Amino acid sequence: MKIIHKIDELKDVIKNINKTIGLVPTMGALHLGHASLIKKSVEQNEFTIVSIFVNPVQFGINEDFEKYPRTLKKDAKMCEELGVDIVFAPAADEMYQDTKELTLVCPPYSAINKLCGKSRPGHFDGVATVVSKLFNLSKCKRAYFGQKDAQQLFIIKKMVKDLNFDVEIIPCPIVRENDGLALSSRNSYLDESSRGKALKLSKALNYAKELWQKGIRNKQTLCDSALKILEGTMVDYIEIVNPETFEDWQENDKKALMLIAAKIPPTNTRLIDNMEL
Ligand code: AMP
Repeated sequence: MKIIHKIDELKDVIKNINKTIGLVPTMGALHLGHASLIKKSVEQNEFTIVSIFVNPVQFGINEDFEKYPRTLKKDAKMCEELGVDIVFAPAADEMYQDTKELTLVCPPYSAINKLCGKSRPGHFDGVATVVSKLFNLSKCKRAYFGQKDAQQLFIIKKMVKDLNFDVEIIPCPIVRENDGLALSSRNSYLDESSRGKALKLSKALNYAKELWQKGIRNKQTLCDSALKILEGTMVDYIEIVNPETFEDWQENDKKALMLIAAKIPPTNTRLIDNMEL
């Protein structure tokens, strides 16, 4: 496995391989959630590239860009054990010469005026831009994204369709701890007491799902019941959407996806989770 930091070197290597390439874009601090994406790519492609890049353009000014965990050595070891061919880990100034004069890929307002897009202005412009760059650089045939970031997955699929990227997007299910907590690089910010509060996200989703399975279809009842469980966290949003369109869920929509974002005191770690009801 090669660890590559420079764009020119990546281009050189890719020029000389004539294999189907799978790309797994990540921000590093890899865990078993990332591993599940990587395993799928290694299975489905002759060559796998994992990008590890904490993308400054997708972070807001008061967000955790500086303190985001960076564990490249450990990440590279995991990638090597999983059969990855290239870890692409560029520095920020290698990816962006000038972030102020950057051409951005901007998803439509209707896709970003809700959920994480609403709470994190500019976030999905940053995501769509970096993912476009990584698609162009890696020449991947397939790219792997977790359903944990459901709105991101929806936006990337739409971007691929709208901009005619020749890349197949492979969605991968959420990997959880045994007690239900969705794996996240940001879980490393949690101590034992805040971890208990973090667990409320998956508990709330599971409870809403139970109610759904009992036949309850009233949006307010579903959200209010989940909200009660989230007491002790600072809820940013709790919403139910149609997973195909990401429009607000309507009572005659067959499928419903509940999404939650909440900050966990005292560190104010912002976590997201979602579940199909
Ligand atoms: P990140 O490093 O947080 O940007 O995540 C990189 C990719 O891994 C994204 O496509 C995420 O959706 C995916 N991912 C993160 N956590 C999980 C998880 N617990 N289960 C499945 N996929 C995940």
